[in-house]
Amino acid sequence: MSKKLFYNLLAVLMLASLVLTACGAPAATDAPAGDAKLVGISMPTKTSTRWISDGESMVKVFEDMGYATDLQFADDDIPNQLAQIENMITKGADVLVIAAIDGTTLSDVLQQAKDAGVLVIAYDRLISKTANVDYYATFDNFGVGVIMGTQIETGLDLKNAAGPFNIELFGGSPDDTNAFYFYDGAMSVLQPYIDSGKLVVQSGQMGMDKVGTLRWDGIVAQARMDNLLSAYYTDKRVDAVLSPYDGLSIGILSSLKGVGYGTADQPMPVVTGQDAEVASVKSIIAGEQSYTVFKDTRELAKQTAAMVDAALKGQEVPINDTKTYDNGVKIVPSYLLIPFSVDITNYEELLIGSGYITADQLK
Ligand code: BGC
Repeated sequence: MSKKLFYNLLAVLMLASLVLTACGAPAATDAPAGDAKLVGISMPTKTSTRWISDGESMVKVFEDMGYATDLQFADDDIPNQLAQIENMITKGADVLVIAAIDGTTLSDVLQQAKDAGVLVIAYDRLISKTANVDYYATFDNFGVGVIMGTQIETGLDLKNAAGPFNIELFGGSPDDTNAFYFYDGAMSVLQPYIDSGKLVVQSGQMGMDKVGTLRWDGIVAQARMDNLLSAYYTDKRVDAVLSPYDGLSIGILSSLKGVGYGTADQPMPVVTGQDAEVASVKSIIAGEQSYTVFKDTRELAKQTAAMVDAALKGQEVPINDTKTYDNGVKIVPSYLLIPFSVDITNYEELLIGSGYITADQLK
């Protein structure tokens, strides 16, 4: 064989082996997709950044642990969420992690899940009126409310100041049990001041049936604040507004600005919030919103994944509460994480320092 023929043959053989490698044996990084258990993650909406972070964190944590995921957002539309969950069950999900839009609407679809042997985790929001929810991963929701009440107590210096001060109350969505825990927690601090007359609710609107805000809708809160201001505050000042969610707080603040609050002569009332959303942290920096509550959704995602993993492996599932969350049919074993109060003095440390929000997002 001539030298030239030998090198040509060698080149052909090398090329052939390259082609075979490319088409044939799987590359080392191919995931064993067929074997991975599937986690359906059903989040309520994208209108609030927290649920986007929750969803994304869970995809990351579960996939790092070797699970496959199917993440869906339901646009705050109940039939949409039900269809998405049904679809996950049809696709063979082994686990459902659900933050319900309305926690009472899932009984039928969760019966299907139960029949298919699916593990069901209520994520941040309790699922009610069904036995077919295995665990609940959330924060200390009553504690969140206590933080809000204490923020108002601190912001108005209620322990020392003579008062009286005017306050208006907002609640979250009445179809979300969290809204009641937040309200009750806040009122556990505020009610004694209302009883003693140091805090006055000029509108008289108290109780979740009067102050609830369906679907946590900021536009609804803004409209209600407009009404309160024009009906009860044309000749009085409102000194504090209890708001249980940043999206409501932003609406309430717009309403207040509309009638002249937010100046040296007419400073903003103390306004609370929840979720440490970027818009509200910016508002805190601008001296408008006074407080928010930080619930680290990355930690909730990790905790949820740990609970799922333990349950699927037949190990002891980490829970720390077996008394609080009665869903009408059973007490759902829960893990409660700790929420933190945020204001101008600590947002950098808590939010930027932990990497939850970047300094750039606040520019
Ligand atoms: C969550 C809050 C959130 C609210 C509105 C509640 O269920 O616990 O963190 O602010 O929903 O999205």
